[in-house]
Amino acid sequence: MKALVYHGPGQKSWEEVPDPQIQAPTDVIVQVDTTTICGTDLHILKGDVPAVTPGRVLGHEAVGTITEVGDAVTTLEVGDRVIVSCIKSCGKCTFCKDGIYAHCLGDEGASGVGWVLGHLIDGTQAEYLRVPYAENSVYKVPAGVPDDHAIMLSDILPTGFEIGVLYGQVKPGDVIAVVGAGPIGLATMMTAGLQGASRIIAIDLDANRREQAHKFGATHDVDPAAADWKEQIFALTDGLGVDVAIEAVGIPATFDTCIKIVRPGGNVANVGVHGKAVELPLQDLWIHNINISMGLVNTNTLAMLLNLVAEKKLPVDLLATHHFTLDQMMDAYDTFARAAQTKALKVVISR
Ligand code: ZN
Ligand code: ZN
Repeated sequence: MKALVYHGPGQKSWEEVPDPQIQAPTDVIVQVDTTTICGTDLHILKGDVPAVTPGRVLGHEAVGTITEVGDAVTTLEVGDRVIVSCIKSCGKCTFCKDGIYAHCLGDEGASGVGWVLGHLIDGTQAEYLRVPYAENSVYKVPAGVPDDHAIMLSDILPTGFEIGVLYGQVKPGDVIAVVGAGPIGLATMMTAGLQGASRIIAIDLDANRREQAHKFGATHDVDPAAADWKEQIFALTDGLGVDVAIEAVGIPATFDTCIKIVRPGGNVANVGVHGKAVELPLQDLWIHNINISMGLVNTNTLAMLLNLVAEKKLPVDLLATHHFTLDQMMDAYDTFARAAQTKALKVVISR
């Protein structure tokens, strides 16, 4: 089969590799119908994720069709159309029983690491894929949900909702700010309404992304390069700052923005993947009663979000801005990597 193979920082190719085989009785093999590229894949290609070794097939998001099932798999069959979660779940360990799949203790990849696809084992940017612990790690797609929508459930919708909205403890009436209006930030804005956010302020340097954000639930937007950016945000609150500030980029500057705009008693939810240390001014913050949260997605809300997508309650259709075929994988990477110019949100890659 063909797959997108990582060959060290800055190097990748779409090339022939061996077909995946069933390795454990709880595995399934999935023919990839649709995959996509995540900002995390770009981090890997920069060399920011050294656990990814040369030869690894990248990608952790897929919708596909089961072509083979292991002997222990009883609830899935060949021909089932499924969403592959970006997080493995053995279903048996103490973390899985608590819904904290991000830290699944199953041996696959590494014990205690939920994100294994395209990280510690071969991933989804390929014609076929082996999914471990399949019964707990894939979700059947209801009829009527197209791949374009279903693919957003592998990672970005659960990530925005769980790590941004739920960890940020968004509650009815809250004024929230989302710093970064890329796919994850937009997924956060899209799901913040589920918890009753009243005002959703999109903060991004890119004017196109600020404008797009309104289609995903943002009620206001602020350019953080404006001289009075902070005053603009405070004017949208009761003057004391936002209830919840959500970081959706993963750099020190955007985390710092969150710290500057959160009100006393408020929450800062970090969603971004950081590659560098962030300065935390505890000497100023301690007296403000701020909660700070962070995490890797569990995808334990995937099934609930899928119900909402099936009923067209979330504007996921607007995320897929560019379409490619699997053999155009390298073009898809190029388009996604130049998102500021191409205006790409999610690039959808199908067979
Ligand atoms: Zn991702
Ligand atoms: Zn587990």
